[in-house]
Amino acid sequence: MFSFTEEQKLLIQSVTALAKEHLAPRAEELDETESFNTVAFKKMAELGLLGITASEKYGGANLGAFETTLVMEKLAEACASTTLSYLAHSILCVNNIHANASEAQKQKYLPKLISGEWLGGMAMTEPEAGSDALGLLTKAEKKGAKYILNGAKTYITNGPGGDIFVVYAKTGPSRKDVSTFIVESKFPGFKVSKKLKKMGMRASPTAELAFIDCEVPVENLIGKENDSISHMMKNLNLERITISGISLGITSACLNYCSRFVQERHQFGKPLSHFQMVQERVAEMATHLDAGRALCYTAAQRFDSGDTDSTLGAKCKLFTAQMGTHAGIEAIQLLGGAGYMKEYPVERYMRDAKLMEIGAGTNEIMRIIIAKSLLNLKEK
Ligand SMILES: Cc1cc2nc3c(=O)[nH]c(=O)nc-3n(C[C@H](O)[C@H](O)[C@H](O)COP(=O)(O)OP(=O)(O)OC[C@H]3O[C@@H](n4cnc5c(N)ncnc54)[C@H](O)[C@@H]3O)c2cc1C
Repeated sequence: MFSFTEEQKLLIQSVTALAKEHLAPRAEELDETESFNTVAFKKMAELGLLGITASEKYGGANLGAFETTLVMEKLAEACASTTLSYLAHSILCVNNIHANASEAQKQKYLPKLISGEWLGGMAMTEPEAGSDALGLLTKAEKKGAKYILNGAKTYITNGPGGDIFVVYAKTGPSRKDVSTFIVESKFPGFKVSKKLKKMGMRASPTAELAFIDCEVPVENLIGKENDSISHMMKNLNLERITISGISLGITSACLNYCSRFVQERHQFGKPLSHFQMVQERVAEMATHLDAGRALCYTAAQRFDSGDTDSTLGAKCKLFTAQMGTHAGIEAIQLLGGAGYMKEYPVERYMRDAKLMEIGAGTNEIMRIIIAKSLLNLKEK
């Protein structure tokens, strides 16, 4: 349906091979034990994937949203939760620093993040500020050569084990007085307060973080004080487009698994694939997947050509997130009792897919973004 350049075909081939060798065989075990796939991250570093959008001078691959979405899809076909951690590292942390930080900050942080020596994440959400991201309460006060951060963040991907976090904090009285800081986990006052247990995406570690008089050198402020809203929104748009690749990958995994299963499993003396109600489910899933791909790939290509319309990212994420969960539930139904059993992967696909309707902005927030733009509804 979409045509790819020779470079993109090679990228797809190498990512598919990596996923087959290092993600797929461990997906079930890592889900069960809630463990992080360190080996896969090392292999991703070797392929240059950890800095997929960053320039080559920092060790990156200098690719765009389109290629990133393709990579997310191929990795998530094998293990969606490792892919979520990969997204937090490569897009929420590395891309954010690459797009907005000073040259000195990039020189200091990007090479080690991209080589895989450091694990990165991004901390925006707080216990009292989720969908209302600008309602954040974490404060940063300048004292001499340091900012002192106080507050809490929650649901932070790569929180346990992460070395470098892009952290949003309030630096003034207005809702829009938000600034961004690069915080190292070894800075005094930084604490992983709790590792969180989850229903899905279990190979992706998630934590609550506490900042208790956390000392951040002034040179770790990204850009200017009180000036983070625009880059926060641009990052969120890229996050929503590329994270949609994870829903594409999960849907593709559901479709592949079910297509094989319904041809092999016999009832009433025939393969399940001979029953029209089974055919309908598979045909619908395949059609949704192609529609999701068309929307995501188009949004990613438009992002790469400089289109700043954030409704495209919202549409992409809304459509594919719902598609992924639906595919997971349909896959369970197509497998019958086997679908409900842990020894088959489709219940994991469904648990992983559900996160996509919540993370990076819920379905409801995506609908609000789209409706606000269509109906000319301005923020008060
Ligand atoms: C596994 C996981 C990983 C995550 N990783 C990160 C991360 O790395 N970094 C980070 O900063 N955050 C992360 N998040 C946080 C995520 O972005 C938030 O959970 C999400 O934005 C929703 O916020 P909330 O959970 O506080 O829900 P709430 O905002 O409390 O929403 C609860 C419900 O109310 C609805 N709602 C809220 N406001 C409205 C409204 N105006 N109109 C209609 N409905 C509304 C929501 O849609 C939702 O259904 C992660 C979350 C999860 C679960």
